[in-house]
Amino acid sequence: STAAQHATSPPVALAIAGTDSGGGAGMTADVRAFAACGVHGSVAVTAVTVQDSLGVSDVHPVPPAVVAAQIRTVARDMGVDAAKTGMLASAEIIAAVAEVCDEVGIGSGGIPFVVDPVAASMSGSPLLAGDALDAIRSLLLPRATLVTPNLDEIALLVDVKVVDDASAREAAAALHDLGAAAVLVKGGHLEATTGREQAECVDLLSLAGGEEHEFRSVRLDRPHTHGGGDSLASSITAGLARGMSLVDAVALGKEFITRAVDHSYPLGAGHGPVSTLW
Ligand code: PLP
Repeated sequence: STAAQHATSPPVALAIAGTDSGGGAGMTADVRAFAACGVHGSVAVTAVTVQDSLGVSDVHPVPPAVVAAQIRTVARDMGVDAAKTGMLASAEIIAAVAEVCDEVGIGSGGIPFVVDPVAASMSGSPLLAGDALDAIRSLLLPRATLVTPNLDEIALLVDVKVVDDASAREAAAALHDLGAAAVLVKGGHLEATTGREQAECVDLLSLAGGEEHEFRSVRLDRPHTHGGGDSLASSITAGLARGMSLVDAVALGKEFITRAVDHSYPLGAGHGPVSTLW
C-alpha cells in the first residue's frame, strides 16, 4: 500500500473569484492563502482578467451558468467546508451564485460563507458592474457569515465615511441591517481616506448580536500590497474551513495578512503582491 492511500482529506475551501494573469490577486492569491493555511483550495472562476503589476486592462466575465456549475460540481464531489467570494463581475453572476449557494447549503447559517465585496482594483479598474452593488446588498449580505469591506467598499455599499471608531460602528450596523451576520470593518485604508497618520491597522469585527472584537497590527508602509484584501478574506475562510470560530479565524487572517504584507515583493513595473513565500 502507498502512503497516499492512508492520507486523510484536508478541509476544502472554495474561492468564487476572478483570475489575475499576474498571479498577485484574485483566485491566484486565494489558492496560495488556502495552501499556506493548510486547506485544499478549489475555485469557481467568475471572470478572466488581463492584468499585470500596472493594472487590469481587460475583463471577460464567465457565463453565470458556468460559474454556478463549478460551485455545484465541487460541492457535490469533494464537499466544501467554507467558501468566499471575491470579484463577481456582474449582477447576473451574483444571482447565479446566490441560487447555487442555497442549493448546496453555502451560507445562510450553513457552510461558512465569507463575502469580500470587491468593487475595484487598487489601481481603480472596476471589477464589478455599476448595477451589481444592489445585488451584493440584497442577495449576498443576507447569506454571508462574514462580510469584509474596506473603507471604499463601505462608502459604496452603505454610504458611510469611516473616520473613527464611531463611524466604523455605524457602518457595521448598516451592514447588519442589510442582513450580514458579521462584519469586519478593515481599517487599513484609514490613513489614505483621512490623511491622518496611523501607527496601527485596526480592524473591527462586529457580530449581529452586538459582540465586538478589535484586531490590531503595526502598520507596515509597503508599496507592494496587491492582493492584500483577497488574501485576508481567504485566510479567514481557511480558518473557518478548519473549523475555527469566527473570532479565531479572523485572528488567524490578521496574523496571516500582516506577515504577507511584511514579506511583499516588487514584481514588474507597478505594484508587487503580498507574499506567501516566507
Ligand atoms: N484582480 C482581481 C481578480 C481581484 O479579485 C482583485 C481584488 O479583489 C484585484 C485584482 C485587485 O487587487 P488590488 O486591489 O490588491 O490591486
